[in-house]
Amino acid sequence: MSSPLLSVVIPVYNEEAGLASLFARLYPALDKLAIGYEIIFVNDGSTDRSAALLREQFQSRPDVTRVVLFNGNYGQHMAIMAGFERCRGERIVTLDADLQNPPEEIGNLMAEMDKGFDYVGSIRRKRQDVGWRRWASKAMNRLRERLTHIKMTDQGCMLRAYSRDIISAINQSREISTYIPALAYSFAHNPTEIEVEHEERSAGESKYSLYKLIRLNFDLVTGFSVVPLQMFSLFGMLVALISVIAYVIVMVQRALSGSWTFWSIWDRDILEFFLIGVVLFGLGIIGEYVGRIYQQVRDRPRYLVQAVLEKTE
Ligand code: UDP
Ligand code: MG
Repeated sequence: MSSPLLSVVIPVYNEEAGLASLFARLYPALDKLAIGYEIIFVNDGSTDRSAALLREQFQSRPDVTRVVLFNGNYGQHMAIMAGFERCRGERIVTLDADLQNPPEEIGNLMAEMDKGFDYVGSIRRKRQDVGWRRWASKAMNRLRERLTHIKMTDQGCMLRAYSRDIISAINQSREISTYIPALAYSFAHNPTEIEVEHEERSAGESKYSLYKLIRLNFDLVTGFSVVPLQMFSLFGMLVALISVIAYVIVMVQRALSGSWTFWSIWDRDILEFFLIGVVLFGLGIIGEYVGRIYQQVRDRPRYLVQAVLEKTE
């Protein structure tokens, strides 16, 4: 297996019920493209027969199949990262194992890359998810776009294609909690999105509870933006400012009414608010420094050079 054009990375966690139909559709779909490809399955510590099924599949198509077996459950994104570290293709596609994104769409992603895009995201044509999830993801999308400037119409859709450059940049980043489509987007120079079909999970059940979904979005915002921190100091400043204004108003009022007392119970309340404001502001400042340390340890590439024009000796 020399360097293929296309690498397909698929995380697998307890998918024994659906793997057979995945194999049955994925391989023909890729064979049809008539390009060199490899498929990397990463078993994320499944406790069912998934690992055994992957092993069997490897034996039946060793020419294009590679399998990474984790020794535990590290989450979908770590599984994809493991695939990224090993893939050899010029173009890398991520796909879920549950057939919610039809593998037949990979050809369309490739066609888009032929046009020169280095990041092809996808939008599910007709969401088959339950109501609350649709609503929650819409709301999150809006918030994320404002906080992080990452434009993803449909963040829940993992069927995406990336160029080798993007994957190398991701591999250089040393972060622990991350959201791959967003990280990739931040490294892309010519991103696009296309609509893809979307189906019900073919078998098995979703690994994402509401809690996990919230965690994921939290990762997304904290991983790409320091706005939440800045809001803290802003809020602190606001509280402090309002309490100073309130104090002035109270003083003026007292002076005008003639009943002048310098210190009353009211002043203490106002002073308390002022101090709370100062504390929040300080918390925000500390947060800024922590944020910087965080950025430093993540060790993402600071920039990506697309080309250098120079005369070589
Ligand atoms: N997955 C994984 N590790 C996990 C959870 C999920 O590798 O801890 C895989 C899972 O096998 C599937 C993909 O990630 O291929 C997406 O998971 P799922 O379909 O459950 O998520 P949903 O589509 O419901 O968001
Ligand atoms: Mg799914």
